[in-house]
Amino acid sequence: MSTRSLPFDEARIREITREYPTPFHLYDEAGMRANARRLNAAFAWNEGFREYYAVKAAPNPHLIRLLHEEGFGCDCSSMAELVLCERLGIVGEQIMFTSNNTKGSEYRKARELGAIINLDDITHLPFLAETAGLPDLLCFRYNPGPLRAGNAIIGNPEEAKYGLTREQLFEAYQQAQQQGVSRFGLHTMVASNELNPDFFVETAQMLFQLAIDLQNSTGIRLEFVNLGGGIGIPYRPEQEPVDLERVAEGVRQRYADMIVPAGLEPLRVLMENGRCITGPYGYLITEAIHHKQIYRNYVGVDACMSNLMRPGMYGAYHHITVLGKEQAEATSTVDVVGSLCENNDKFAIQRTLPEIETGDLLVIHDAGAHGHSMGFQYNGKLRSAELLLKEDGSVQQIRRAETLDDYFATLEFPAPVAEPAEK
Ligand SMILES: *Cc1c(COP(=O)(O)O)cnc(C)c1O
Repeated sequence: MSTRSLPFDEARIREITREYPTPFHLYDEAGMRANARRLNAAFAWNEGFREYYAVKAAPNPHLIRLLHEEGFGCDCSSMAELVLCERLGIVGEQIMFTSNNTKGSEYRKARELGAIINLDDITHLPFLAETAGLPDLLCFRYNPGPLRAGNAIIGNPEEAKYGLTREQLFEAYQQAQQQGVSRFGLHTMVASNELNPDFFVETAQMLFQLAIDLQNSTGIRLEFVNLGGGIGIPYRPEQEPVDLERVAEGVRQRYADMIVPAGLEPLRVLMENGRCITGPYGYLITEAIHHKQIYRNYVGVDACMSNLMRPGMYGAYHHITVLGKEQAEATSTVDVVGSLCENNDKFAIQRTLPEIETGDLLVIHDAGAHGHSMGFQYNGKLRSAELLLKEDGSVQQIRRAETLDDYFATLEFPAPVAEPAEK
């Protein structure tokens, strides 16, 4: 029996499939907006708080615009993500450019848009100066290395390719200041899909202490700290969502205990979450098209790993609801599989679900972040459509499904082989 509630029922999805064939991703506008407002409300104590949505999680202009209407900025990491924001009119310090191993052309674009540039390495300071010129406002990404344990998913900071060491950080701020930079921010990202709220409070504490140390040793005063993204979501039904109010209250207390007495107020708190913003509000809808019984029982669906690669790539759990059988008893243990010629193309492995019949519609949950965006065309698989379930209950296509013409568009074909000889 499914324990997850849905903003639609089987009848509504059947209706939608008459216009838009499966598979497709469906996003819940009302859920997304309510969640965005909740995050903003939790951090309302901090003047200047802003969430910069990690565009890579769901780079669809309709979703970005909707989140922008809720006050979010955009966290970009590539040329395409910068241009996507530009085309929406989202520019200037509404963009945080947190990239790594960055090309000069990307820094030039970020500068042209007036984005907040977050440097991933001390050598990028002269590189940026040379390729694009230094802005007034600059941010550096801190990698605490042995000073902080990462979480299981992002791994040990000492082994992560991102950011500057503590020593480099102090050096970099001073060099930047000497070269005319006058406004500063500090960033870190040490967790991914972390469900422990206290982890983020500890991250804030670490950055607040660094802000104090920086002021003491260099006189440089930060304008903001960016706690990064990484707030997890309960992919499994037995997991609890992160209590955003508890995170915000914990950060507020550290701010009151550390930043206020140090005279470093006002200090803006920023975040750049992707997963917890859109993840739970996106669903991959797919139809069961085959059954196969060999050494195990398989349910073949019309979506595959190119629509959602987290299960195949990370062994990630994604909850599945069989529409119309929400209350049915789970009696059959199956692997739910796609059509890729890869044996890790499985949405669920040995999952006990209600009896699935051909033609049943399956909802794969929590596909609203790092879902469609991680899609690929391996094996000639095409990326599916994205639909928005709007607040008024209507459905709008916000990305069409790819076609074979899209697939062939970049290929150069040689002349066809000669006609077979006449018989
Ligand atoms: C991917 C990423 C994010 C978003 O991570 P989520 O787990 O989706 O919150 C934020 N910042 C940076 C630098 C990232 O690489």
